[in-house]
Amino acid sequence: MAKSIDLETSNPSNPAVNPNPASPVIKESEWLLQTVVENLNDGVVITDLQDQVRYVNSRLAKLVGCSVADMVGKSAHHFFHAIEGWFDFQGSSEDTQPFYGWKEGQLRRKDGRKFWAEVNATLLCNAAGEPTGTLITLKDITERKWLEEYLRLLESVVVNANEIVMISQTEEAIDDPLSLRIIYVNDAFSRTTGYSSGEAIGKSAIVLLGEKTSSTEIDRIRAALSTHEPVRAEVILYRKNRTHFWVDVNMVPIRNEQGQVTHFVSVMREVTERKIVEEQLRRNAFHDSLTGLPNRLLFMERLSQTVERANENPACRFALLFLDLDRFKVINDSLGHMIGDQLLVAIARRLESCLSKNDTVARLGGDEFTILLENIQSDNDATKVAERVQQALSTPFNLNGHEVFTSASIGIMLSSTDFDRPEDLLRGADIAMYRAKAQGKACHEVFDTDMHTHVVALMQLENDLRKAVERQDFELYYQPIVALATGRILGFEALVRWQHPEQGIISPAKFVPIAEETGLIIPLGQWVLREACRQLKHWQEEFASEPPLTISVNLSSRQFSQPSLINQIRQILADTGVDAHCIKLEITESAIMENTESAMDMLLQLKAMGIQLSVDDFGTGYSSLGYLYRFPMDVLKIDRSFVSRVDVDGEKLELVRTIITLAWNLGMDVVAEGVETTKQLAQLKALKCEYAQGYLFSKPLTRIDAAKLIPQSQPFLHLTRISPSNGRLAEDV
Ligand code: C2E
Ligand code: CA
Ligand code: CA
Repeated sequence: MAKSIDLETSNPSNPAVNPNPASPVIKESEWLLQTVVENLNDGVVITDLQDQVRYVNSRLAKLVGCSVADMVGKSAHHFFHAIEGWFDFQGSSEDTQPFYGWKEGQLRRKDGRKFWAEVNATLLCNAAGEPTGTLITLKDITERKWLEEYLRLLESVVVNANEIVMISQTEEAIDDPLSLRIIYVNDAFSRTTGYSSGEAIGKSAIVLLGEKTSSTEIDRIRAALSTHEPVRAEVILYRKNRTHFWVDVNMVPIRNEQGQVTHFVSVMREVTERKIVEEQLRRNAFHDSLTGLPNRLLFMERLSQTVERANENPACRFALLFLDLDRFKVINDSLGHMIGDQLLVAIARRLESCLSKNDTVARLGGDEFTILLENIQSDNDATKVAERVQQALSTPFNLNGHEVFTSASIGIMLSSTDFDRPEDLLRGADIAMYRAKAQGKACHEVFDTDMHTHVVALMQLENDLRKAVERQDFELYYQPIVALATGRILGFEALVRWQHPEQGIISPAKFVPIAEETGLIIPLGQWVLREACRQLKHWQEEFASEPPLTISVNLSSRQFSQPSLINQIRQILADTGVDAHCIKLEITESAIMENTESAMDMLLQLKAMGIQLSVDDFGTGYSSLGYLYRFPMDVLKIDRSFVSRVDVDGEKLELVRTIITLAWNLGMDVVAEGVETTKQLAQLKALKCEYAQGYLFSKPLTRIDAAKLIPQSQPFLHLTRISPSNGRLAEDV
């Protein structure tokens, strides 16, 4: 079965020749050689032309799992029997050619276990150049093969990973670890950055992917890497097309056996999408969605930081501006919410244009804006900005073809005031804004200590009011409304009083605005209406009269804008059994104007129920007479400010005359409010005013005192018999 070597077909590479085997020198060297061969790490086997093993070293015997004695004289083929097809010595089968040269492959030991070997087969020839056998060396490369395989697996993991992998090499004399040369990038790197590995390798990561800017995160990475610490961070990088992307990067230094850092491996996961969502969430949390301006939360955060800085460095001065648009509600209600929103956006942009980069403008909600001015030189700077803002807002806005005029009232809080809680600063600016509003529109006011005391008192009052509403610590007083022709009582206006546990009776002028602002007016107003109806029913039953007594109840703007008002009133009427025709609801001009959209509907519904409607405080609000024609009002109450001057001010007198005539033309009754003197009364009588109310007749009374007046048929006859010509009472004539 073994074949002789066919020199024609074999390809002997570098044959080893024994020049003279008989010489003793050769004997000596043969022995030396054998010792060397015995101690080689490689296995060595020499076969003759018949493929019989002539020599085998113990390393080889061990490799194949036999002993030297077992092998010598046997066919080599026998020991390499399990060679897997590729390893064919001097023709292990009929149809294969003998193999000379170098080869790697798997062999099997005697016990069947496989191992990897690197095999070198050389044709041996004698001095005459005739082939004598084969020299085979065999190296166990199982471990290397395993490592190669392992690396190949690892590489395929890295190449195909979704994560970006980048390896850079450390070089001496480079102090910025991010400037190291890239030596490897995977496919994900190319997919994400747009750079092929050819473009990336040899460049530094920071030049390739970073912008000139050095973010704090990049600096942190640098610091960690220069001390050879692993580092993890989220940073912005730039693609080849200069768009940016976010990565979560993990950079690890790799050390050699001596412990020196030779490479950095960076594994990055693109997290752009997550970052965008996070950013949106953050924006939502900290910004107003309509204008894109910072919201209250962000503003307060910036304010806190500013306060902190100012605390550390008293030279740092700042100011807080609180801005409230004048009559925004009117614009909103008359032109619609869309225009209202457009206006707010346009205002936001104008406010931004008035400020420097360091300043913050925020929208607190509704038509309220705040501005934080940082690092101002003097308090004067703040008022200058306020003036600039007012100037900027004074140019009309063009919104969808509507020319809209607006102005703002601005309250200013300076850091020089001794407050350092952000919420107190904001409250102070708010109070100053209210002051500005009271001064007339489009003004600004700087917060002063007077206001502070005022704020504290108001806050206390608000707390107390909350409790009072819960406990119903209120009482209604009743002020008679007198028919000037007869001196009879037409009805009463119900006026609420607060029985404060410490401060005694508190006037509604003081707490109704707070109740309005806080919404407490809703439960309070409901209580007032119910109580007034209950009292009226009681009086009507006790003292029947023709026409029946009426009760006038004040409705605040907030109540008036409440859609559930109609049902509440219906319920109260049903519960108390009062005839709707005896109820007069008093609504101010401004309450109507602030709710123009819903006002008409609301008023018509109330009318349909049979309730009478009065315009309260006429002359103090918008004084636009147009709405008087439009809205279905029954009574017009001339404000005290006119009545009080009707006897001394000819102009006012003429005005009141006009108002009365106008009301009559519209079929409305007229009530003069706040009549205090007989002279005023005389003038009103001269103007043929029909009804009046005021201290001259009676102050608001408790229900007990009011009840004493009702049975008298003409309690104020003596007053009403006044002579219009000389203002003297009838008795005096
Ligand atoms: P108002 O509706 O204009 O009520 C008339 C106010 O003028 C009452 O003040 C009354 O006491 C006062 N007054 C009447 N005659 C004279 C006078 O001859 N001279 C002077 N100087 N004052 C006179 P009051 O009771 O302090 O109420 C103040 C305001 O509080 C009311 O103004 C009304 O707007 C509001 N208010 C009172 N009660 C209620 C209520 O139950 N609900 C609501 N929403 N507001 C109320
Ligand atoms: Ca009133
Ligand atoms: Ca009034």
